[in-house]
Amino acid sequence: MTAPIPALVVGGGIGGLSTALALSRAGRAVHVVEKAPSFGEIGAGLQLGPNALHVLAELGVLDEIRKDAVHPRRLVWMDAIEGERITAVDLGDAFRERYGRPYIVMHRGDLLSALLEACRREPSITLEPGVEVVAVEDLGDAARARCADGRTIETELLVGADGLWSTVRRAISDDEPLCMGYVAYRGTIPIERMSRHAGLDNVVMWVGPDMHFVQYPVRRGELYNQVAVFRSPRYRPGSDDWGTVEELDAHYAQACEYVRDCVKLMWRDKRWPMFDRAPIARWSRGRIVLTGDAAHAMYQYIAQGACQAIEDALALARQVEAHGSDLPAAIAGFEAERVLRTARVQLTARAMGAFFHLDGVAAAVRNATMRARAEDDYSMLDWLYGYRVDRAEGVARPAS
Ligand SMILES: Cc1cc2nc3c(=O)[nH]c(=O)nc-3n(C[C@H](O)[C@H](O)[C@H](O)COP(=O)(O)OP(=O)(O)OC[C@H]3O[C@@H](n4cnc5c(N)ncnc54)[C@H](O)[C@@H]3O)c2cc1C
Repeated sequence: MTAPIPALVVGGGIGGLSTALALSRAGRAVHVVEKAPSFGEIGAGLQLGPNALHVLAELGVLDEIRKDAVHPRRLVWMDAIEGERITAVDLGDAFRERYGRPYIVMHRGDLLSALLEACRREPSITLEPGVEVVAVEDLGDAARARCADGRTIETELLVGADGLWSTVRRAISDDEPLCMGYVAYRGTIPIERMSRHAGLDNVVMWVGPDMHFVQYPVRRGELYNQVAVFRSPRYRPGSDDWGTVEELDAHYAQACEYVRDCVKLMWRDKRWPMFDRAPIARWSRGRIVLTGDAAHAMYQYIAQGACQAIEDALALARQVEAHGSDLPAAIAGFEAERVLRTARVQLTARAMGAFFHLDGVAAAVRNATMRARAEDDYSMLDWLYGYRVDRAEGVARPAS
């Protein structure tokens, strides 16, 4: 009989690697298993708000990340049909002062590389790609993961960071990811291929009927990231024959000329059907606990899925540090701290999607309402970007 390992993280994405780093800093040795043959991210962009940057700073990876990131000056909303500006959020000095950190955009691969390198430098983290967990079981004072190669791993704390289609979640909830028929095409291209773009200063979001289109520079401004989202009328639950390239072009035919031209430059060989999950009140069973998309998959419409996974990482580690060997108390504290916060983000993302995708008179009302707000009016953003995991209520501090 071998003793259970102190912590097993299932899934080596942004959430899993952040969690491994945070737990190791909290004094717990961690083993990470990842089903892909190597650790990596898809070649697309990521927006990170100040709420996530506070955590990345605490994990000691922010300086590395910022070397390759772009610091935009504003988030601009445009009408995808009319081609006109609706509103913007000023991300300049006032924003940074208010939230204590900037807003950055970056290549996903650059973030994952920084996290991976930081994990590799930690003697208490071991990383094992090419291992798929197929089932997990709570044993009372430990948990067991069964791997596709027949191996089993026993651990004092099993963290399910295995994303939207989480295997670990099946031990906790029988719900399924939800789809409303939206699909995304996304990817980066060398910035020189864009004959016209919104510069390094802007993240631009074009909104229109059942669609939105996002653009921003990444990797020191050398690449331009584009995401084209639309609702497929051919969507049927269980079918995979929807959201095709032909539908992408047909849907965006109604957009203004600039957006149509940009969509022609999109990667077309892969599409991402959009799913989220309904919030659930419990993310744990005994020594098994979920984080990131496995716990609270959300639409990317407010660019917070990875940010929330990063917040989770520090929140869980702080609870583990505060409660020492009392892991059930740590897990309960983690859920108490995180469930409502992330449910609010999930539900806001859904609501913002509905707001972006309006048509006709409703879209005109949206535009008029949004035009009336000042660019430095942050009142509706404070709850999101002003949140600090390291100042969250209800976390018992370890006795010093
Ligand atoms: C189009 C789009 C744009 C987005 N833009 C943003 C943005 O700008 N900002 C933002 O914050 N978020 C954004 N998101 C959301 C963000 O990508 C996710 O929320 C984030 O990647 C979740 O991280 P995670 O580590 O929890 O899950 P994942 O990234 O899904 O990682 C899970 C990992 O677990 C592994 N795995 C799965 N099952 C197993 C298993 N059984 N055994 C072992 N390993 C397993 C997977 O291979 C994967 O590596 C966007 C999402 C999309 C679709």
